[in-house]
Amino acid sequence: MGQKVHVVINPASGQHQTILNKLNDVFHPAGVEWAVSITQKSGDAARFARQAIADGAEVVGAYGGDGTVMEVAEAVQGGETPMAILPGGTANLMSVELGIAKDLSEAAQIMVNPESVIRRIDMGQAGEQRFMLRMGMGFSGEKVKLADREMKDKWGILAYSIAGLKALKTAPVAKYHLKVDGEEFETDGKTCLIDNAGNMGSQGVAPSKTISISDGLLDVLIVRDAKVGSWIALGKSMRGHEDQDAVKHWQGREIHIECDPPQDVQGDGEIWGQTPVSVQVLPGVLPILTPSAEMKS
Ligand SMILES: [Mg+2]
Repeated sequence: MGQKVHVVINPASGQHQTILNKLNDVFHPAGVEWAVSITQKSGDAARFARQAIADGAEVVGAYGGDGTVMEVAEAVQGGETPMAILPGGTANLMSVELGIAKDLSEAAQIMVNPESVIRRIDMGQAGEQRFMLRMGMGFSGEKVKLADREMKDKWGILAYSIAGLKALKTAPVAKYHLKVDGEEFETDGKTCLIDNAGNMGSQGVAPSKTISISDGLLDVLIVRDAKVGSWIALGKSMRGHEDQDAVKHWQGREIHIECDPPQDVQGDGEIWGQTPVSVQVLPGVLPILTPSAEMKS
């Protein structure tokens, strides 16, 4: 797609493979000018992506796990220059959602293929913080902290879910007070999730079809039964259970949540603070290169 492309590489993630050779095998025949930067610490990926855009890159690829992808997303959101996701062999949640190949060479082809399409997807925002995948509360803060960057790059958002599963089982029931686009609701529950992306990355398991990353809406799920919570955390379908009392489900553009007792709030696996929290959707703010226009949302 681009004549000048940049790839931000997190060398600590993915499988051991000859990254530069594989990129060259795709970029050189395509005749594009290309460069890479190598991250060493948290924050590097966003910084390198911004610099690449300032230097005229037409697309910025993120090679790494969800942590790297989220940093590059933060850098490109709100702009015209799209990002590309190079999952590097691990199941990256957003790449699964967008139908991007797990294979590095195939994913890199999207960066130079004239048929590739820029798709603009939603993000969520709470204060100054933005998220691509989901916000959650009700998982133990200590458990989220245990899911370090390396674990997150390997397992994606599931890292915090796996770390939080046991905590959820023993979590006390809290009372949630919600305002969804001005309408107020109250319910008790164990955890509250605000989802932007419906596909939680499990292979062979159908995601809930009602959750779309490009419908301009966020999905609010309050889990009242810890067993259902563990299904969701493990990425299994909860279809057939949504009608039951175990999960409450709303959709909206502006969401305010209060919780008694207050709960830790995490966004894309990082702890952001505590409830109360206000969240809004940023419709179509994130340009991502995808293989074709036919991708379902
Ligand atoms: Mg949505």
